[in-house]
Amino acid sequence: MSATKARQIVLAARPQGKPRVTDFRLEETAVPTPGPGQVLLHVQYLSLDPYMRERMDDRESYQPPIPLGDVMPGESVATVVASHRPGYSAGDIVLAHTGWRTHALSDRSDLRKLDPAVAPVTTGLGALGMPGFTAYAGLRVIGKPKRNETVVVAAASGPVGSLVGQLAKLAGARAVGIAGGPEKCAYVKDEVGFDVAVDHKGADFAANLAAACPDGIDVYFENVGGAVWQAVLPLLNQFARVPVSGLVAQYIDAGQGDRTDRLPATMRAVLSKSLTMRGFINYDFAADHYAAFLREVGAGIADGRIRYREDFVDGLEKAPEAFIGMLQGRNFGKLIVRV
Ligand code: NDP
Repeated sequence: MSATKARQIVLAARPQGKPRVTDFRLEETAVPTPGPGQVLLHVQYLSLDPYMRERMDDRESYQPPIPLGDVMPGESVATVVASHRPGYSAGDIVLAHTGWRTHALSDRSDLRKLDPAVAPVTTGLGALGMPGFTAYAGLRVIGKPKRNETVVVAAASGPVGSLVGQLAKLAGARAVGIAGGPEKCAYVKDEVGFDVAVDHKGADFAANLAAACPDGIDVYFENVGGAVWQAVLPLLNQFARVPVSGLVAQYIDAGQGDRTDRLPATMRAVLSKSLTMRGFINYDFAADHYAAFLREVGAGIADGRIRYREDFVDGLEKAPEAFIGMLQGRNFGKLIVRV
């Protein structure tokens, strides 16, 4: 018998710094009925991503703030339950922007069918989805690593960072991963294949990073900002490239970080070392590079050359706690809620 009740999680309050579970509210609604041109989706897996924290604030960014009371946004893997949309039938598995809920209607053209025979469907949320594409596009278009150069990335056990390291290795570069704690560092080096892993929670982080980069840094793929950026800055080589993908260390500090003003030192380095720093949002590059990404990374996953790790949490009601944990590094791999 199909469910008659749906559940969803809405933004209940705007967090000050670190979000709390009371900033979210679980609601029960009726399962919606699809109209003309719509499909009804039953969400199986929900992706939790750091960018969602930015959208909880009431300030200008590349996407508008989430209005209070609205369903938290997010991508998911869902099954089509009923379809009034040509090309889709009940039972199809799709990648969709449903938000944090069990059921959703969609009439969007951005639904993507997933074939479990090609790759596990959850990779559509991680290695073969938006985070993977962020790594691919940021590194290929902006980072442009060359043979024997040194590429550094933090959050190196996550879906973006781990692929940055593997693509750097495939380009013939040396890959240095930064991660929080010995377990993640062991994974980054021994299983993902980075040349070195450096623990940013260790007492001598800056000295250890310098020791791991004896020839300096040619590409720093910026995922975190904050204190990691401070340790990276003096190690950047002339003409280094810095794709700025994310600043997760700053997301829960409401933009204050540890209140150290790194702007003067950053600007001095941009000038004196002729740095290229470029911020980007993955979809800036989708038209030109998405098809090649799916082909190349899909083949790498299929033949086992590209490794990835997923971290599952059970139950939609667990999403807020898991999301808050991810912002503090408690996830280990791509964070996915089994709805
Ligand atoms: P992860 O799954 O890697 O999760 C975030 C990780 O950030 C945590 O696990 C933690 O890892 C690390 N972290 C948190 N706080 C700090 C800190 N203070 N210092 C150092 N590391 C910290 O995330 P994703 O791979 O999904 O995303 C990585 C980055 O890429 C994020 O900044 C995200 O916003 C960005 N991104 C950008 C996109 C774009 O289009 N520009 C698209 C997708 C993602 P650890 O325990 O190792 O510290």
